[in-house]
Amino acid sequence: MLIRRLFSTLVLGLALVSIARAEWVERVEDGIMGTRIVVELWSEDKAKGEDAIRAVLEEMRRVDAAMSTYKPESELSLVNAQAAKTPMRISQELFDLLKTSIEYSQLTGGAFDVTYASVGFMYDFRQRVRPDEKQIQEALPGINYRHLILDAKARTVKFARAGVRVDLGGIGKGHAVDRAIAVLQARGVQHALVSAGGDSRIIGDRFGNPWVVGIRHPDRKDEVIARIPLEDAALSTSGDYERYFDERGVRYHHIIDPKTGRSASKVRSATIIGPTATRTDGLSKTAFVLGPEKALELYNTLEDVDAILVAPDGRVLYTKGLEAPPQE
Ligand code: ADP
Ligand code: MG
Repeated sequence: MLIRRLFSTLVLGLALVSIARAEWVERVEDGIMGTRIVVELWSEDKAKGEDAIRAVLEEMRRVDAAMSTYKPESELSLVNAQAAKTPMRISQELFDLLKTSIEYSQLTGGAFDVTYASVGFMYDFRQRVRPDEKQIQEALPGINYRHLILDAKARTVKFARAGVRVDLGGIGKGHAVDRAIAVLQARGVQHALVSAGGDSRIIGDRFGNPWVVGIRHPDRKDEVIARIPLEDAALSTSGDYERYFDERGVRYHHIIDPKTGRSASKVRSATIIGPTATRTDGLSKTAFVLGPEKALELYNTLEDVDAILVAPDGRVLYTKGLEAPPQE
């Protein structure tokens, strides 16, 4: 009896020791993909947790190096320089992401289109630079996802005409977040959050409770319009307050309507909840182009997706799946 009690005390003692060593490990890193990366995970062993975070950041740097249009030597920059002249053989990863991008163009009736950059490259929101009407009209025929010709067998991409440019700024962060989650899962991590700017994904929960992600007010950055409890889900928010400048009462911002080459302003912000960050990222731009009614109609047809939109007049609109919205 005594021995038994001693034994159980010992076991309990050991359990306490291992609980004491398990902890949340967190890191905030600026500058990858031009944004803030946050990684938070539950680890039985702090050193292992730190190591997993290092692996995540390395993976994100790798994706950034391949897919950034700010880096002239990136694989995507080489595509932009060469693919109008000749089919270019690319990595399976880039090939797959271009294919996925085209699928989102088809799904959204062309509202999402990575060739937006054929005009989009002429904007510089930090420098308050925008193309004039003539420049837009000249470059506009370059925007069309159908100009991207993918050959799966040869694993090549070709542009159907000159003047086409691709930018993955609207889906690359979601992809990088999904890659990061895969890195964590391969290491056995079961509770984590990874976010890159407006794109986040969560695995597991937080001590038996969901993670709570806030959606900010479009104009008042410290004000939250809704709090969303999440487990095993991704969430992307796009807003016209992210990268913009105002000129004579007009807001010029980073989401471009592929039909006009101008900023798409039919909503102020769009938050999408879904299974992967690639999916939520690929769908969050659409509402700006289609407007709240048409966008909700589309999102409501997608079983695995929910959305919260802020209309220009301040109305907050939800998909059917969020019937009892968690409001402030
Ligand atoms: P974040 O960069 O914070 O993830 P978003 O997910 O809202 O922000 O993506 C905005 C980016 O999407 C823009 O900076 C641009 O690179 C790209 N983009 C802009 N318009 C479109 C569009 N119509 N289709 C696809 N991508 C777009
Ligand atoms: Mg994004």
